[in-house]
Amino acid sequence: MTAWMRHIGDGLLRVLYPPCCMDCGVRTASPAVPLCPDCVARIERATPKSVADRLSRLAEAEALADARSLWVFDAQGALQSVQHALKYQNQPHIGHTLGRWMADVVPEVWQPDGFVPVPLHRTRWLERGYNQSEALTTGLAEATGIPSRADVLARVRPTASQTGLPRRDRWANVAQAFQAADPEAVADCTWVVVDDVLTTGSTAAAAAHALLDAGAERIYLCTLAMART
Ligand SMILES: [Zn+2]
Repeated sequence: MTAWMRHIGDGLLRVLYPPCCMDCGVRTASPAVPLCPDCVARIERATPKSVADRLSRLAEAEALADARSLWVFDAQGALQSVQHALKYQNQPHIGHTLGRWMADVVPEVWQPDGFVPVPLHRTRWLERGYNQSEALTTGLAEATGIPSRADVLARVRPTASQTGLPRRDRWANVAQAFQAADPEAVADCTWVVVDDVLTTGSTAAAAAHALLDAGAERIYLCTLAMART
């Protein structure tokens, strides 16, 4: 299909199925914008202190120099359907918008060399067709001009889903999951690890350890949301 045919097709789809807010249903500017401004304003913002408090409960998270989350994730709230769409309904374009919104909470003093999405293992990537964290880093890169570097970190072994695992088992589950894919590119640089949801921080800490082992100078973390508990 040529580009102009796709363009007309997209326009027609938008007339037939106008993009709408996943929470309240009012029209939004484009299919890439999952929530209207009113619904965005109602989502609880995560404070830097609440994120730091969460990470202070995990010794291994000391590998993270600092961290930010945009929102507090509430299973009953607007974010539930947005996160589901991002993760399971083949809608990476939503991630680009969410990543642009996340850029708001990245402190200027961080001065990173790049955003590193938490990689999926190849089997999970093949199931889903894309990495939702990489969709977020694409948006972060668009908003900040700082590159998205999905190529520097690899998931070297598959891990069981962290969902439902007790806190003490989460670190053991992911501890050896990551490895720098390009140690030369990683060394002496500052990276922001990017993930969709922060729960205990064990996944992000494991990614940070792998980058530091390869000689990275400093690792920060930015997530779309922090789980309430
Ligand atoms: Zn709305």
